[in-house]
Amino acid sequence: MVEVTDLAIIGGGPAGFTAAKEAMVYDVKITIIDNCPQLGGQYHKQIPAEFKYQQNENHKETQLFDPLRSSNLTILNDAVVWAINPQPEQDQFLLSISGETGIPHRLIAKRVIVSPGAHDRPFPFPGWDLPGVMTAGAAQILIKNQRILPGQRFLLAGTGPLQWSLAHLLISGGARVVSIVDANPFPWKALGKLPSFWGQWERLSEGARYWSSIITSGVPIHFNHSIYRAEGNGAVERAIIGPASGGTYKSIDVDTICLGYGFTPSSQLSIISGAEHDYSPVFGGYIPVRSESLETTIPGLFAVGDSTGTGGKDVAIAEGRLAVLGALSQLKINIHADTIAEIRKQLNRQRKFAQILQELFPYPAELLNKMPADTVICRCEQVTLGDLRAAMQYGFNDQDNLKTLTRIGMGRCQGRMCKATLDQMINPLTQEQSPGKEKLKSRPPAIPVTIESLLEEGVGHDS
Ligand SMILES: Cc1cc2nc3c(=O)[nH]c(=O)nc-3n(C[C@H](O)[C@H](O)[C@H](O)COP(=O)(O)OP(=O)(O)OC[C@H]3O[C@@H](n4cnc5c(N)ncnc54)[C@H](O)[C@@H]3O)c2cc1C
Repeated sequence: MVEVTDLAIIGGGPAGFTAAKEAMVYDVKITIIDNCPQLGGQYHKQIPAEFKYQQNENHKETQLFDPLRSSNLTILNDAVVWAINPQPEQDQFLLSISGETGIPHRLIAKRVIVSPGAHDRPFPFPGWDLPGVMTAGAAQILIKNQRILPGQRFLLAGTGPLQWSLAHLLISGGARVVSIVDANPFPWKALGKLPSFWGQWERLSEGARYWSSIITSGVPIHFNHSIYRAEGNGAVERAIIGPASGGTYKSIDVDTICLGYGFTPSSQLSIISGAEHDYSPVFGGYIPVRSESLETTIPGLFAVGDSTGTGGKDVAIAEGRLAVLGALSQLKINIHADTIAEIRKQLNRQRKFAQILQELFPYPAELLNKMPADTVICRCEQVTLGDLRAAMQYGFNDQDNLKTLTRIGMGRCQGRMCKATLDQMINPLTQEQSPGKEKLKSRPPAIPVTIESLLEEGVGHDS
């Protein structure tokens, strides 16, 4: 089944649904595609419709998404976009989609906004593959979306505000947070940036709420500390923590360890489209090169939100608005210059705030050098840090060669849990060879889909 639309928006998080809302008032056909049962993305993850819950629990989200009803808007939920093919001769794009009955397998769109978000950035150490170790994002989804507490005694290891938010969620859910370790120092430097916090009232009050839970529950936070090892017989029983600079280690009895070391952009779709990307050590992955109006190097393809480097929901919202106005003006719709200027102003303010958080809580990349050679990097294929270092010593310094030699990234998760670490290891070398850019090879599907949907698409047949 093939359908046609003016504007396709991939991802229904804050960036995507704001773009759709902005576009709805114009005379264009919009299609928003999201692989979850409901819109909302990471920030507004909704409780599944089939759950029985107290009426006010989803109230905020219901209010937010109710206005997203319009005859010119089609919402495709539970649908995965797995490839984008630019067709420049026809000034359009062909999107390949996988989903249940009724979901078109192909969508032709005149303009496309890509907003698929990000996922947790991995942090490897001995024992991180034991049951009971999970990412902070996974724990958050289990609690917020499924109402499941994934353990009882928690250690939160990582850096930055996501840790505080998770601690608050866990404490509110009745869990015992034994300790929080943050790889960076206490954010005293924030005091020198106070003017940039002006107006960020929602964020500041969220932060205050989280800290109040942590303090009143007596949870110790060890700044400048890291996790070095998880131990246990078949599952986590204890965590070994210590100063980030090395020194005396301490053992803490816990059954669950949540890792919150930031995010890595989900840029597979924009990479597959052929758009140019740069490696960003700050954002932990490849991000699309974009113009001021957030258009990628493929004309008509815009990329916004966390998939271009995590800046938080307010950056995502402002980017969604700005990109959609750029796309609409290419569709010959008249957009007021004042509106664009106002959004740019908002975006700059939000980006400044996001940048401060990134500076205060950077990913502790140097800690990888402190991990022993038997640390597993690729969990699917059991490739260790020692395997990679040995291959690199023999001159295998790019992704393709390392993949062929060690099988890193070739397992079930297709690099989701190891690629950011691999990028971090090889990029200092690649940058010397080809100033900051690496020729990225990525083939569809962008995320795993069923064989059935590939057959429907005619992959492997002339069609
Ligand atoms: C795990 C995690 C936890 C976070 N926790 C917090 C928090 O506690 N507090 C906070 O302030 N911020 C948090 N953030 C950051 C905040 O949620 C994001 O900055 C914000 O949601 C970004 O919006 P977005 O629209 O760019 O992406 P998202 O909100 O991630 O939305 C992207 C959407 O695209 C969908 N999608 C992805 N790929 C495809 C595809 N191929 N086809 C179809 N749909 C697709 C996803 O399912 C998702 O619904 C978190 C982010 C992550 C990743």
